[in-house]
Amino acid sequence: MNRLVFAAVADDDTGASDLAGMLTDQGLRTLLVIDLPTAEQFMVWSDGYHAVVMAEGTRNLSPTEARERTHAAIRLLKDRQPRVLQIKYCSTFDSTDEGNIGPSIDAALDELKEDFTIALPSLPVNGRTTYQGYHFVHRLLLSDSPMREHPLTPMTNPNLVDLLSRQTKRRVDLASYRDVEAGAEQLKRRFESLRAEGVRIALVDCLNDRHLETICRACADLRLITGSSAFGMKMPAIWRERGWVSEQKDNGGDAPITAANDRGCLIVAGSCSDATRAQNEWLQARGAGVTNLHPKELLNGNINMATLMAQVRDQVAAGRHYLLTTTNSHIDVREVQQWGLSNGLTVPALGQTIAYALADLVLEVLDDLPVGGLIIAGGETSGALCRRLGLGALRVGRNIEPGVPLCFSLGSFRLPVVLKSGNFGETNFYGKALGAIAHPAEYMI
Ligand code: ADP
Repeated sequence: MNRLVFAAVADDDTGASDLAGMLTDQGLRTLLVIDLPTAEQFMVWSDGYHAVVMAEGTRNLSPTEARERTHAAIRLLKDRQPRVLQIKYCSTFDSTDEGNIGPSIDAALDELKEDFTIALPSLPVNGRTTYQGYHFVHRLLLSDSPMREHPLTPMTNPNLVDLLSRQTKRRVDLASYRDVEAGAEQLKRRFESLRAEGVRIALVDCLNDRHLETICRACADLRLITGSSAFGMKMPAIWRERGWVSEQKDNGGDAPITAANDRGCLIVAGSCSDATRAQNEWLQARGAGVTNLHPKELLNGNINMATLMAQVRDQVAAGRHYLLTTTNSHIDVREVQQWGLSNGLTVPALGQTIAYALADLVLEVLDDLPVGGLIIAGGETSGALCRRLGLGALRVGRNIEPGVPLCFSLGSFRLPVVLKSGNFGETNFYGKALGAIAHPAEYMI
């Protein structure tokens, strides 16, 4: 049995795939696991990997559920004895006053029987920095940034020492930028003195990539770390220096990764973002088949499946690609949301209902029709499809664009998969993703 170098429990799917793509780009064979497989299934899937990222969707769970789910995920991971374990959350610290971040860290410290960890929400490359415990998004305090208006996790308190203290009974304190500026050895001593004082979580200031490097060196001996995907940029080099990353290729139970060049791909866009709309238009202009599924008809079961299936079959069998969308210039998001409210569905509940209805429809299509690959646009849409289709675990390849790796599903449908957060990707992103699907060997390590 191989020992994992690294394992992470991530609180949402797109964050998990962002971290996983970074690890692969740094040469670590990485597996992305969705939800909680059985222990036996997990052992088969995770054989031969350096790193495993578990996408556990804890962000929108209650504190108790987030705690229990994190316990369960770490229990699974412990069988592979990861040298380092991370609780992964967003670089804008998306959470409520009660959690989920504090409860998840508590569960991890308890499960691992550790008495100290750090919290590093910063991601300087994306303009997320922390100074004196106050968190910034580019030039704005977190509480002045658009995150203030987030429908599920509005961020109104930029003081993260204070906010994290509200989420956990453990003592939280600051390791300030002065300690970070003083270098890795000094910062390590600061961690030690905080630990001796009874502090259990040290929130660390971080303003730039140099700080990030120092922080990663100072925490390299900790079994548990917590924070953003920033660790994925710097830690792999440190693990390699320590000789933890074996170079031989041995992806035990994996089937060979091959392109299905003769069949077209299915692209499913549940995102309504400007970036995704422009990408949809780009693909349509290049001759892909398109069906706009109106959410009202989708939810009322009024889609003519026989007609849709025939259209998709014709295109895909001829090696052309097919796009399913739930919005275009004729399908107005606000109007759909008003309709949802008048039927007793809040905006988040409506979004989830549309995402799962779309996932049910895609399951029906794929059950009947093999495709060359699957591209999904939208974070929540990706989550719903991964679960409904039983994709289970994804072997993660290199990034097609930052934050969007080519993956290969090991679950019910074994096929190339690309999960794209709505705002990600240039206008010709689908073109690049389809190119990657046609040549997977260039992306898989
Ligand atoms: P993004 O990554 O762009 O945020 P998501 O998939 O996470 O994309 O979120 C888009 C949300 O909007 C989903 O919950 C989806 O089901 C919902 N949605 C899709 N089409 C429509 C529409 N026409 N009107 C209202 N909501 C929609």
